[in-house]
Amino acid sequence: MGKCMIIGCGGVASVAIHKCCQNSDVFEGIMIASRTKSKCDALREKLQPTTKTIIETAQVNADNVDELISLINSYKPDVVLNLALPYQDLTIMDACLATKTHYVDTANYEPLDTAKFEYKWQWAYREKFEQAGITALLGSGFDPGVTGVFSAYAMKHEFDEINYIDILDCNGGDHGYPFATNFNPEINIREVSAKGSYIEDGKWIETEPMEIKRVYNFKGVGEKDMYLLHHEELESLALNIKGIKRIRFFMTFGQSYLTHLKCLENVGMTSIEPIVYEGKEIVPLQFLRAVLPDPASLGARTVGKTNIGCIFRGKKDGKDKTYYLYNICDHQECYKEVGSQAVSYTTGVPAMIGAMMIMTGKWNKAGVYNIEEFDPDPFMEALNKWGLPWEEDFSPVLVD
Ligand code: NDP
Repeated sequence: MGKCMIIGCGGVASVAIHKCCQNSDVFEGIMIASRTKSKCDALREKLQPTTKTIIETAQVNADNVDELISLINSYKPDVVLNLALPYQDLTIMDACLATKTHYVDTANYEPLDTAKFEYKWQWAYREKFEQAGITALLGSGFDPGVTGVFSAYAMKHEFDEINYIDILDCNGGDHGYPFATNFNPEINIREVSAKGSYIEDGKWIETEPMEIKRVYNFKGVGEKDMYLLHHEELESLALNIKGIKRIRFFMTFGQSYLTHLKCLENVGMTSIEPIVYEGKEIVPLQFLRAVLPDPASLGARTVGKTNIGCIFRGKKDGKDKTYYLYNICDHQECYKEVGSQAVSYTTGVPAMIGAMMIMTGKWNKAGVYNIEEFDPDPFMEALNKWGLPWEEDFSPVLVD
């Protein structure tokens, strides 16, 4: 059916690439293009004998628009799937515009020097993408991603209006290290050491980092502490889902993780302000990343499950209604299938599905869109088919 260029070859990309190769009717060809070409080549060597998808590889610096343009022009993909880091979103969008190629990502743009997730930079491309007749699908991971698809599905099939959404992201996995992050440590630590926030009555309410704690009993995992965080999909869902009064995001963290994080913070290791060390400028958080275990190496040793989903409260036919949609994913099952743990898996599968929605023309409108702005039904069907089956509960325990 078509060709996809995947930029980045880290934890999430590796899963998406495995999934594209399982889906060679749609992904006839893929090009894996990343900063370190040897990683792309190693994956091609492993996967090419297992798939009809023709795999090519290339080296690219995704911070450089001209390099991206010439690579896209030479490969001519139908869609570019950006699985590098949020810092590269705008350069890759610029290259897609210049070459009139569809764009998909899993995380919103963030400038390197301020840890601040906002869609404004990418939404500013709306008119340009419309005029070029191409689609940018923003946030096709799990959260953001599946959480937006779940919201669109709940709105379409279960509610007349949704007033409250609580997104609950539980990782019940144990990798056996005292401290490690399940995906890119720099992105992860920037996310959890930032202030928390949620939206109520159209306004952002800010909290101190980890100020709001709740305990929830997750199916498949058990009881866990979870903390309110700022998360990027709150911004788009509050605009796109009818009737929202309050939307919050909670993520589970174990006590050991939080104690280590506090200590690293207290000694300045999580700072993104550059310092001079032995005559060289370094960013403490980037240095910390270099000494922590590579998330890609956690797969083999992680056991347990993730449970991520959304609890909706609203109205249907004049009556109050609650509805919980979630997915449970097992770390070891993921590892057996694609050699990665569930955090990469739950992001890489929806990334492949997002690219597939565009390549098959199921999602087809020019402009820049968040995932909940498309018809959720074909995506929901694909989640069941491609390894992330969802479950529903019509009387869930609510979060106070
Ligand atoms: P990794 O750090 O494992 O992988 C990032 C990859 O991008 C690496 O291969 C890296 O190259 C490559 N890369 C970085 N900079 C450049 C550049 N300038 N040019 C070319 N390639 C580059 O990260 P993850 O796989 O964990 O995360 C990937 C993305 O997924 C991130 O944006 C993250 O925020 C997002 N994410 C989204 C989630 C969701 O649910 N929506 C959940 C988890 C992650 P090299 O190999 O040389 O380092």
